[in-house]
Amino acid sequence: MATSPCGISAQLPADEVTRLQSLESFRILDSLPEQSYDDIVTLASHICGVPIALISLIDSERQWFKAKVGVEVQQTPREQAFCAHAILNPADIMEVPDATLDPRFANNPLVTGEPGIRFYAGAPLVTPSGSALGTLCIIDRVPRRLTPPMAKALKALARQVVRLLELRRALAELETLAQAQQERQQQLEATQRRLDQVILELAQQTMTDSLTGLKNRRAFDQILREDSSRMARTQSSLALILLDIDGFKAFNDEFGHVSGDEALQQLARVLQAQARAYDRVARYGGEEFAIVLPDTSMAEALGVAERIRQEVQDAHWPHRPVTVSLGVAAARASQDSLTLVARADKALYQAKATGRNCVVRDTEVV
Ligand code: GH3
Ligand code: MG
Ligand code: MG
Repeated sequence: MATSPCGISAQLPADEVTRLQSLESFRILDSLPEQSYDDIVTLASHICGVPIALISLIDSERQWFKAKVGVEVQQTPREQAFCAHAILNPADIMEVPDATLDPRFANNPLVTGEPGIRFYAGAPLVTPSGSALGTLCIIDRVPRRLTPPMAKALKALARQVVRLLELRRALAELETLAQAQQERQQQLEATQRRLDQVILELAQQTMTDSLTGLKNRRAFDQILREDSSRMARTQSSLALILLDIDGFKAFNDEFGHVSGDEALQQLARVLQAQARAYDRVARYGGEEFAIVLPDTSMAEALGVAERIRQEVQDAHWPHRPVTVSLGVAAARASQDSLTLVARADKALYQAKATGRNCVVRDTEVV
């Protein structure tokens, strides 16, 4: 015990370090007033018939009031705190019937000055782990004694304060967990979106011809399958154009493979430009291309094919003119897609045989 201008200031509790850690864990110091705590001090002052009641928390250097009636101050130095003495015996209420007669408090400025404490009774706020965080205390400006019912009520209310503190901490922990959970959820969703994007890109890559950017043979097969079954379902028609560059081997031999590749790219652009919105252009093989034309009759498909032939012939080609031969086939619901390819291929073969740079239609009755 040390003598100070405040009287005899309290020893530190044996568990001071863990006690302060415990107090800190409630995150209550310097929090805003709350109705539940205010209600408790109001009840305490009414039950005990005193003008002042406080929930005082003993911080390392101060006592801070979570709730108060009858005083305006928010905190006092710890060395003036009656409650700093009260927490030294967590098991019991500390009662000071007349502070002027108690050597610990006779010279305390809270006794000699405002608020003029005479009577004090503090019920320690003890956590389940045994730390006394502060007190629920009542104060009067005249000497008096605590009756047993008052003592009982004060202890009960002190337990309720601890309960409130624990609920507060549990709620804060739940909120932290919920927030962490939400962040984790958001991370998972972002990862999922990235994964979906990667899968989409990979799927597109496996369906795309890297030289021309057109759909590749795999995509073509899929499109034809899908369009054929739709044709069967909706009893619609479907047309297919197969086209092949004329004398492309010679082109490669004369101008080199790189120029050949560039010619393939240019041809792909021409085909894309000439195809209609719902037509699908694919690179079928080396220098062979296919165009799937849904809901298209033979006459319409022939029109598209002839326009393509003309556009390719008229396009400006860097090395020498390029022409294509085209075979056209059309089908109705009853026919399968393999027949369609075979018939378009046969027509293409005939176009080559006929002298190239021309369109030949499949002659099978559809
Ligand atoms: P035809 O008029 O009968 O079609 O004659 P062709 O020379 O075009 O026919 P052929 O099938 O004999 O030759 C096709 C050529 O296409 C052979 C090959 O070098 C070339 N070719 C196929 N794929 C590519 C490619 O990706 N790049 C380049 N530069 N050439 C290719
Ligand atoms: Mg060819
Ligand atoms: Mg060929």
